Amino acid sequence: AAMVKETIRVYARVKPPGRRQQAGIYSVDDDEKSLSSLEIIVPHDLADGFVNNKRESYKFKFQKIFDQEAKQDVVFDSIAKPVAECVLAGYNGTVFAYGQTGSGKTFTITGGAERYSDRGIIPRTLSYIFDQLRKDSSKVYTTHVSYLEIYNECGYDLLDPRHEASRLEDLPKVTIMEDPDQNIHLKNLSLQQATNEEEALNLLFLGDTNRMIAETPMNQASTRSHCIFTIHISSKEPGSATIRRSKLHLVDLAGSERVAKTGVGGHLLTEAKYINLSLHYLEQVIIALAEKNRSHIPYRNSMMTSVLRDSLGGNCMTTMIATLSLDKRNIDESLSTCRFAQRVALIKNEAVLNEEMDPKLMIVQLKKEIQELKDELALVTGKERTSELSQDELLQLDELIETFLEDNDPDSTLDVGADMRKIKYCFVHVKQLMNHSKISDKKLLSQHISDEKDTNKEAGEEELKKLKELLQQRDNEINILVNMLKKEKKKAQDALFQLNAASAGSTVLEQSHSINLEESQSPSSCFSLKEAKDFSSSVHRLPFLSRQTGGKMSLGCQEAFEVFKQDHADSITIEDNKQLLNQRFTEAKCLGEKLNEVRNKINHLKGEINQRHVQRAALAISSPSEELYMLDPVEEKLRTEIEEEKKRYKTMFNRLKGLKVEIEHLQLLMEKVKVKLQKDFEVWWSEESINLQQENPEMVSSPNTTTVYPRFIKSSQHLSTSSFSETTRVSPNEDPAGKNNSITSNNPTLKTRTPPISSTSIPLTGDSQADADILAFIKARQNILQKKGKSCQ
Ligand code: ADP
Ligand code: MG
Repeated sequence: AAMVKETIRVYARVKPPGRRQQAGIYSVDDDEKSLSSLEIIVPHDLADGFVNNKRESYKFKFQKIFDQEAKQDVVFDSIAKPVAECVLAGYNGTVFAYGQTGSGKTFTITGGAERYSDRGIIPRTLSYIFDQLRKDSSKVYTTHVSYLEIYNECGYDLLDPRHEASRLEDLPKVTIMEDPDQNIHLKNLSLQQATNEEEALNLLFLGDTNRMIAETPMNQASTRSHCIFTIHISSKEPGSATIRRSKLHLVDLAGSERVAKTGVGGHLLTEAKYINLSLHYLEQVIIALAEKNRSHIPYRNSMMTSVLRDSLGGNCMTTMIATLSLDKRNIDESLSTCRFAQRVALIKNEAVLNEEMDPKLMIVQLKKEIQELKDELALVTGKERTSELSQDELLQLDELIETFLEDNDPDSTLDVGADMRKIKYCFVHVKQLMNHSKISDKKLLSQHISDEKDTNKEAGEEELKKLKELLQQRDNEINILVNMLKKEKKKAQDALFQLNAASAGSTVLEQSHSINLEESQSPSSCFSLKEAKDFSSSVHRLPFLSRQTGGKMSLGCQEAFEVFKQDHADSITIEDNKQLLNQRFTEAKCLGEKLNEVRNKINHLKGEINQRHVQRAALAISSPSEELYMLDPVEEKLRTEIEEEKKRYKTMFNRLKGLKVEIEHLQLLMEKVKVKLQKDFEVWWSEESINLQQENPEMVSSPNTTTVYPRFIKSSQHLSTSSFSETTRVSPNEDPAGKNNSITSNNPTLKTRTPPISSTSIPLTGDSQADADILAFIKARQNILQKKGKSCQ
């Protein structure tokens, strides 16, 4: 609301000529309602000579044109009074006079020295302002004045009393200070308080005097310097903390005349340079401000533009008076002044009401407000409110907080009423609790960490020891494995050598093969040999190897080592089980025979009884007697015998049943061990064969070996299907049940008929062939076991 946007108002004032009146140089079209127009007519003799264009007249628009007869009071009322009013309202204002030397700037701004009626804008403004301040009792006003002269880019305080005694150069220079908000502050420029018109006029007089003292014909201070008389007004309403501060700059600029350049042929050019450089910069600022979308305005180029920064395109109500000395000789300068004025008229200013808060007044005001509110609160609550909570209230709050914190209900609230003191206390209390728990947490944590460090160290050392041991173990294992592989490799080579050496006869081949298998002591070797055809591919399908390629080499070595160990341990277990199984089978066989005997005996006894019955029946018909109807003691004896045989049979049958269970269990155990052994061996063999392959690649890939393998494989194929196919080679001498058996292990056809153990049921029902198979099988195992001669659980 408190902002006024408007362009700089530009007025023109024409100085009365000297003694000789010159007519026809200019005309004024003064329109009361709209802008006034000034037409400057260029005389013919000048148009031919000085002016470098052929135009005869120029028209310029002004807010108002004050012609020669215009009096000071009228000028003031029209130009300065509106600005002074704004300044009294709290806005900044500027009135500046621009024109060539002698055109009446000083006369307009300060006034003539001779007559009271010739008083200029400054004294009239001061008079007006103090009049207004006197009239307005609604506000408290404070007025200060400052008087700054800028000469050669140096600022001088015209109100400095030392002016009288010192030369201009020796006076402290006024310098420009810019705060972060880009506000200009002038150092060494005094602000003299003027409580009334008289004091203010005295200060104006002092400044003017000082200006005159400093002026010498050589420096021409009055024409080459700018003078800025500033009235500072601050106002506030009684009881209000708001202060309004405003400034009114009344500016008498240096003469705008330029150095006329002499053109070709002695003609003077209108594009002459300013004598005063700061006016050049002023023009630059004016041009920049008149341009649309211009972001940078070169205020800083000169002190004058810096000081008048707000007045030009800023927070200010600005008015310009173009002073003209419109005689024949000054046509050029008059045209320049008018052109400058036209540009200034384009500048838009935004005047803002300068209000600020007085901190001291604010405090007083707020204290008063607080007291009023306290009173009101006491009235409503019926309690006198002090700034501190009572001890009882604090305890009560502590309890409330504790209850609140311990309440697990997420909807629980902490209600302490609408008392900010209590609410604040709760926050502080909770913060303290939180900080306390954090600190204790940290302590615990650091303690825990230090404890852990020690244990970690110990654990680390222990771990290292373990790993070292493990490493040693692995090294040993690898060495063992290497030795084992060397041995196995030799065995395999021997086997192949023997195979190669063997004749083409199938019986011989199979025999020698059997021998080889015996020597290798591994039933699974047959299986692996069968696979020898496609070694390289089968190798990778083996479960163990795939595990090995999974990246655990040491585990692989360990397992391979385990294979080696298990090969022996399991063989022992197998042999032990075989022995046991053999015993059980023998027992079962024996029992079966006895059972048959008993059954036969019973049947025989039954037959005898029947015979007796027949005899008795025949006797009763031929020679009936009482005796015949009596119990037959022979029959009774036979019956008793049958009963006894039946008991024996039952006992033996139960024993046989138990044996069957035991045998089946043993068979299952053996089957398990066998599968494991076989698998492990496959792996081991595969590794072995890889080594062989690497050392003698031709064994697998060369055409020569292919002639060997098919035969070899052919013979081993039927062996592989039966798990313990090495049952084959059982010496008749070593076979304890051999005599009762028609089966000889030399019969190679048996091998193919031997069913896998898993599908074998103990044949005790009289199937002699199956019985024989099993017995042969058991004997074969026993045979192998006896070679090892070791016992186990
Ligand atoms: P400037 O300050 O622009 O150099 P001055 O204000 O000093 O010019 O004026 C030069 C002379 O002209 C002074 O003697 C002054 O009294 C006189 N003068 C200027 N304007 C008027 C006017 N409007 N009426 C009467 N005399 C004037
Ligand atoms: Mg002057």
